[in-house]
Amino acid sequence: MRPRLLRSRQSLAGTSRVAFGWSRGFAVEQSSIFSQRLTACSVGSRRPIQLGHCPGGRQSRAAFTLIELLVVVSVIALLISILLPALSAARRASQQVVCLSNMRHVGLGAILYAQDNSDQVWPVNVDGGVSIPPIGGAWARLPGKEEGTVRPGYLYDYVSNVDQIAECPMNRRSTSRDDGGRNMFGGDTPLDFDYTMVANTQGARLDRHTLMGHITRAELYPIWNLPPLVPPTGMSVPRLSGLAIFVEERTQYFNERYPDGLWSNGDQIETRHKGGGHVVYLEGHADLFKPIMGRVDRVHERRDLDANDFYVRVASRWVRLELRSGELHPYGWINNPEISLP
Ligand SMILES: [Zn+2]
Repeated sequence: MRPRLLRSRQSLAGTSRVAFGWSRGFAVEQSSIFSQRLTACSVGSRRPIQLGHCPGGRQSRAAFTLIELLVVVSVIALLISILLPALSAARRASQQVVCLSNMRHVGLGAILYAQDNSDQVWPVNVDGGVSIPPIGGAWARLPGKEEGTVRPGYLYDYVSNVDQIAECPMNRRSTSRDDGGRNMFGGDTPLDFDYTMVANTQGARLDRHTLMGHITRAELYPIWNLPPLVPPTGMSVPRLSGLAIFVEERTQYFNERYPDGLWSNGDQIETRHKGGGHVVYLEGHADLFKPIMGRVDRVHERRDLDANDFYVRVASRWVRLELRSGELHPYGWINNPEISLP
């Protein structure tokens, strides 16, 4: 019996080297998981780093000291702080590319429609009157067969994946559903909207080249009073790169829940892409347009460039594109713009 008792004590002693830690030459009972990780390979060791088998065959559960752990955490935090801005910038850049591509698709839809309809871009609405939600721009939705209903608009006849390309990847609207729960396109999908038709370009002909520009001193005019019919002498009117037919409409002011699909009056152009929004032109291209804006983001300021500040070139002078609030030029006006406006 004696030898068996001795083996048992040896076994217990062996176990105690795992269950107990060693510090400064003394065996000290460990009371926490963390302190167990400080177990040394041998008595007197102050650097319990080595994992696995210790010299001599003893097992070790040593890992890191507290300081080493903190250093590792600090390095990881530093790497994250360096990489996150780069990743965020890359994400924004890719979203901008997708948005630009989306707008090209929308513009292509308008041009394809024109090719089937006497070379003229689609009308604002099919009733000839002013577009009022929930009907909105005919490019997006049309009246349904039954009164009070809507169905998808002309764009769906020419672009197969409207539900994938009709909103910017950076869309942050809370909702744009009408009272019936329909989106701007007359459907019940989660699709939102960002791209709206420049209302007074309805009926634009593909074979005309109409110059378009905007005033640079919008702050000279009260917000709800239109700028003059013809810009004052000496005011510069920078040109756009074509006749804008669709713009990426600014969400922040006035358009959070106004899904008419049209851009006119006080509507603005987005600034979410490096201070600009995308514009697609009758000529078939699209680009990033950076509007002149005031200092406060969520306030409609006089300095903000909006649809009232845009002009088209007639003969040798510029003429304002917009009528009074809510009024539209007749279908095709843009092809032969008259300056005898009311
Ligand atoms: Zn966008």
